[in-house]
Amino acid sequence: MVFFAVALIASPPALHTDPRILAAYSEGGGIYRILPAGVATPQGVDELRALAVWAGETSTPLVPRGAGSSMAGASVGRGVVVDTSLGFKWLAPDWRRRTAWVGASVTLGEVNDAARPFGLRLAPDPSSSAFATSGGAVATNASGPRSVRSGSVRQWIDAIEIVDAEGALRRIERGVSGTGPWHLDQGGQRLVEQRFPRTRKASSGYALDRFADSGDELDLLVGSEGTLAFVTAVAWRLEPIPPDVGGAVLGFPTLEALTEAVPYLVALNPSAVELLDGTFLGFIRGAGIDLPAGLAGLLLVEFERETAAAARGVVGDAVRGLKALTSYVETAVDRAGLEKLWAVRHLASPALARLPDTQRSLQVIEDGCVPLERLGDYVSGIRSASEQHGVPVAIFGHAGDGHVHVNALPDLTRPGWREALVALFNDVTDLLVRLGGVPSGEHGAGRLRAGVLERFFGREVMTLFVDVKRAYDPRAILNPGVILPAPDWSPLSDLKVGSDSARIPDDIAARLRQTERNAAWGTPKLDLAARTPDT
Ligand SMILES: Cc1cc2nc3c(=O)[nH]c(=O)nc-3n(C[C@H](O)[C@H](O)[C@H](O)COP(=O)(O)OP(=O)(O)OC[C@H]3O[C@@H](n4cnc5c(N)ncnc54)[C@H](O)[C@@H]3O)c2cc1C
Repeated sequence: MVFFAVALIASPPALHTDPRILAAYSEGGGIYRILPAGVATPQGVDELRALAVWAGETSTPLVPRGAGSSMAGASVGRGVVVDTSLGFKWLAPDWRRRTAWVGASVTLGEVNDAARPFGLRLAPDPSSSAFATSGGAVATNASGPRSVRSGSVRQWIDAIEIVDAEGALRRIERGVSGTGPWHLDQGGQRLVEQRFPRTRKASSGYALDRFADSGDELDLLVGSEGTLAFVTAVAWRLEPIPPDVGGAVLGFPTLEALTEAVPYLVALNPSAVELLDGTFLGFIRGAGIDLPAGLAGLLLVEFERETAAAARGVVGDAVRGLKALTSYVETAVDRAGLEKLWAVRHLASPALARLPDTQRSLQVIEDGCVPLERLGDYVSGIRSASEQHGVPVAIFGHAGDGHVHVNALPDLTRPGWREALVALFNDVTDLLVRLGGVPSGEHGAGRLRAGVLERFFGREVMTLFVDVKRAYDPRAILNPGVILPAPDWSPLSDLKVGSDSARIPDDIAARLRQTERNAAWGTPKLDLAARTPDT
């Protein structure tokens, strides 16, 4: 570990305060529109360090931000948004050692593009890889369909470089314990052991369970959502791309049959087991996919293997083993065939983009994760809460981890839609607590879920969370309101939809809407703010 504790002279950084720029940074991937007080675009470590020192001296809250695709409102806020997607764009690979040391601005897609010619890739595969920055992925502990076999990014980080709340630059390595300003005593360890939910995935609060296991400071910082430090660089560990792949689409007549099939498939060591629930299939109906009627849901399963024979063999095992449960089966024995089968999974985005402006996809219950054996209870509980409150939903996601995404699709012309959404949020939180789940499997607690964490972890663990935060950020300048709730936490305020959303110029609102529809989060936000001849 290297310390660079050189004192910096605090000089006010170059801040953008043009209202058009503030507007361009007021939204992210989730539900919120919050106008920041300023925007900083540091070009490299020295400028970022100066910014942190200045923020500490002036008690200015900083909101670390990458591409801004956070679903949980963690990269928008009222302080100074610090855009790290621009000034940290460099890549230093060592393909022989299967590692890449990259700046925080480098997207996961860029890492993969550079690694592919060498037969390597990042094992985790968030759907947002094309735009998610390395800094943002570390800060959210991102993952994707392959997490059933490869876990989240946490397992694939060898080291990170950070700028802390005091402006100090440090490198933190995997396997080096005892570093950092916070330690967990034996009482704390027992508490964590007793109170942390036992799900296969989690991005909900500080990962004290992982920290208790490893003692590595890295485990505290991964998933800390910009509340403990800025990430300026990441050492990614890469894996060889498996040579062969096979898979299947399996249709089930009942939810019970589907959820019974999941552990069977997981035991066959798949690289992905994805769920498309009946709610999702209803939503994409008419989009050109020919599926039999009456399916309660589909599982898409993928197996990566060393040989074609092995891939083919395991697909055969899966299909034969589940014969009594399935009512529809299609198989593929190579990547092209599999991509065709998986096309159905990719229909959600175009279908969402076609929704009228009066029906918006709002991410309020989008990331719950439960122990695998409770998956069926979770999906049926969401379905009934959706019916009860009259808010349509589309359920899909990572069945192999007990982790499903839920797009709530309220009709904004219906009186009481906001109250219905609040009721849905509350009911699904109750359901997750009852089932021993966590509110977020991969997107993070953010602002949205900060106020419910205590229900999952209990007050004593929350006290540990507060201790961690104080140790790293004594002046509370880094992303206040994220993970630890603001005193006036109100998860469904400051929405980007509705008559009371913050006023921003119409052309920027339209560009932000297009960004969301096209998942174009990689577009530099300063470009969004630029005037065109007709604005
Ligand atoms: C269409 C779509 C699909 C998605 N699919 C997935 C998916 O499959 N899997 C998944 O895990 N997520 C997914 N997400 C969520 C999101 O893309 C991920 O959380 C991603 O890791 C965020 O990266 P970002 O660069 O956009 O970070 P931002 O949204 O800008 O920030 C996310 C969090 O990281 C912090 N942060 C950002 N940069 C830094 C930094 N340099 N230092 C410290 N903290 C920082 C922010 O403060 C915030 O807390 C999806 C989002 C969208 C819109």
